[in-house]
Amino acid sequence: MKNPTKKLLIRDIELGGNSPVRVQSMTNTDTRNIQTTINQINELQQAGCEIIRLAVPDTEAAHALSSIRKKTTAPLVADIHFDAKLALLSLEAGIDALRINPGNIGSSQKVNMVVDAAKEYHVPIRIGVNSGSVEKYLLKKYNGPTPQAMVESAFKHIDLLEKRNFEQIKISLKSSSVLTTINAYRLLAQKTDYPLHIGVTEAGTLIRGTVKSSIGLGILLYEGIGDTLRVSLTGQPKDEVLVAWEILRSLGLRQRGPEIISCPTCGRTEIDLVGLTREVEKHLQSVTEVFTVAVMGCVVNGPGEAKEADIGLAGGKGCGIVFRKGQVIKKIENQKEIIPEFLKELDSFIQERNKDYGPDQKPWLKDFKP
Ligand code: SF4
Repeated sequence: MKNPTKKLLIRDIELGGNSPVRVQSMTNTDTRNIQTTINQINELQQAGCEIIRLAVPDTEAAHALSSIRKKTTAPLVADIHFDAKLALLSLEAGIDALRINPGNIGSSQKVNMVVDAAKEYHVPIRIGVNSGSVEKYLLKKYNGPTPQAMVESAFKHIDLLEKRNFEQIKISLKSSSVLTTINAYRLLAQKTDYPLHIGVTEAGTLIRGTVKSSIGLGILLYEGIGDTLRVSLTGQPKDEVLVAWEILRSLGLRQRGPEIISCPTCGRTEIDLVGLTREVEKHLQSVTEVFTVAVMGCVVNGPGEAKEADIGLAGGKGCGIVFRKGQVIKKIENQKEIIPEFLKELDSFIQERNKDYGPDQKPWLKDFKP
């Protein structure tokens, strides 16, 4: 059961309380390059990203936010370090949330100025503590950036905001260690009902980062901890979004788009299954309908092994068979036609599923704003 937390609104996306766990990512374009950043925001949004963070390293980037805000629809978060003025400029530019570490914004007057302005603009603040930002006296007290040190650091910052009667808060406590991350969030979740943004930071490249995030975030989400997540990868931000959705889907928390299952291949495989699976993935990448597609390496065992799949293809020697729920519905005799014919079958399957629903009635989209 999900940990009870307060609700927040970031632009038109609800977060916390009973809201679905929200998917976040961060652009890696130069925010000053307005069009390139807009293109990446749109790409992330199409992939299912619901909240998008942008780095604001200087005044030019803060000013760029105004045009970016006007030309995009996704909720945008300004990521600010060291400079209160950049936070104020971002608010003026129409940003929907701020991510700051109050510890590095400067004097208490400067923090107060940012918090008061955020209140005036009704903009939530994420307090982002990570193992590298824990104060020296806490590192000494706890002998390093332990979960206790990170939680105490977070409360110090929460206190600064609450003193200004500001409660539109969410918190993150990130570490590159999976175990520290899990323990820090567990501790924090016992002590606060502010919504939590979860993530394993600096997780690594696609395989390593996916494993670390899936284990760390998977355990927390399974325990009901986490209102929004970011999978942090050294790579394309869009991949972060795809991995995040797979984590949520695997835990039965949310669904978006088809689940593509493919067999691991073995000595019976008679087709280029890797190429075929890639083609299917590419064809379905912007599809939001929820169903299961199987791509299997042989006609003897494939349909049986994937009989739960709504639709599937099993490749044989120079041919392919299409099946639905384990029942063969078509044989494709011409090897060259296997991929195009199967993609056509997928399209008609989706059309059939959609005919009963209006654009806003698709049951699988009830917790998702496309
Ligand atoms: Fe091997 Fe066929 Fe099973 Fe794929 S479906 S793993 S090719 S037996």
